Amino acid sequence: MLRDWCTWDDDYNAGVVQDIRARLCKLASEKADEYTVALMQGSGTFSVESVIGSAIPPQGKLLAIINGAYGKRIATIAKTLGVALAEMDGGERWQPSAKEIAAALTGDESITHVAVVHIETTTGMQNPAEEICAAAKAAGKTTIVDAMSSFGGLPMDAATMRADFLVSSANKCVQGVPGFGFVVARRDAMENIKGFARSHSLDLHAQWKTMEENGGKWRFTSPTHTVRAFQKALDELDEEGGITARHNRYKENHRILIAGMRELGFETFLPDEYQSPVITAFCSPQTPEWDFKRFYAALKKSGFVIYPGKVTVAETFRIGNIGDVRPADIRQLLKAAAAAKYWE
Ligand SMILES: *Cc1c(COP(=O)(O)O)cnc(C)c1O
Repeated sequence: MLRDWCTWDDDYNAGVVQDIRARLCKLASEKADEYTVALMQGSGTFSVESVIGSAIPPQGKLLAIINGAYGKRIATIAKTLGVALAEMDGGERWQPSAKEIAAALTGDESITHVAVVHIETTTGMQNPAEEICAAAKAAGKTTIVDAMSSFGGLPMDAATMRADFLVSSANKCVQGVPGFGFVVARRDAMENIKGFARSHSLDLHAQWKTMEENGGKWRFTSPTHTVRAFQKALDELDEEGGITARHNRYKENHRILIAGMRELGFETFLPDEYQSPVITAFCSPQTPEWDFKRFYAALKKSGFVIYPGKVTVAETFRIGNIGDVRPADIRQLLKAAAAAKYWE
C-alpha cells in the first residue's frame, strides 16, 4: 500500500485488477468460466446497491427476504431507488425455508428477482441460500445473494448455490482493507442488464463493461492502494490453505468463543443450528448491574473491540471472530471478559 499505482497503467490494470477478477471467479465457483466479476468503489453496501439498482429491469419486482438489518437494507435500497418490492420479514430468529419462498413466488407472479442475505450479520444467522436460490430458480427468477460476511470464510460455489449475482467486499472474510466491494455474476446475467441502472456511478453493467473491454481499467478513479492490498490478502488466503482452511480456523475460533462465553453465563441469541461461525449475537445479562458500555470499555482496555447489538427484539451485543484472529486471541478475550465480570 506504500507504493503508488497508476489507474491507467498495465502494472495495475493487468497485473493487479485482472488478476483479482480472475482469482475471485475461481474462488467463487469450479465453473469459473461461467462467471465474471465487477469491482465497485465504496463499502459493501455500494456493491449491493449497484446490483439492486442495475440488475432489475424497469418492470421487474424484487422479493427481499428479511431476518435482520442487512435484509432490511436491501429493501430500503429498493424503496429508495423506486424498484418494485415485496418484503418477507419473519423476524430476527426466523430462518427462511425454500418452501416459504416457493409459496411467496406462487402468490405473487410479478416477482422477477429474489434477494437473500447469506449470513445475516445482525445475529450471525446462516440462511440456507442454496435451498432458497434453488426454489427461486425453479420458479424462473433471478437470484441475488448478499454474501458479504460469508464469501472467503465459508466454502460455497456460486454455481451450486445458483446465485446469479453474488456480492461481497474487500474487508470481511477475504481479510483485505476497506474501500471496495465486488459482484460475482453469471456472465449471461451480467450481459443482460444493460441500461437498467438507476444510478450513473453505481451502474454495474457499465462498470463491468469498462473493466472487461479495457483490460481491468475502472470507470472512475479506483482505490488503488486498497485494491493492491486485496491482491495481497488473496495471496494470504492461498497461503493459509484456501477457504476450507480459513473456515476451519473460524469454526475453531467460534467453538472456543461460544464455550467460554457460556461458561461466563452468557446465552447466544440464536439456537446453535442457525448459527454461522463468523459472528455471534449474545443476549445481554438480565441484571440491573449490566452495562454494555462498561463491558465494552473493559475489553477495549485489554485490546479487544466488540460490536454493539443490532437486533431489534432483544438486548444483545456481538462478537466477531473473523480476520487475522486465532484461538489464542479468543482465549485472551475470554480471560479479559472474565476479569471484567462485574454484573452479578
Ligand atoms: C458488512 C455487510 C454489508 C455491507 O456493509 P458495509 O458497511 O457497507 O461494508 C452488507 N451485508 C452484510 C450481510 C454485511 O455483513
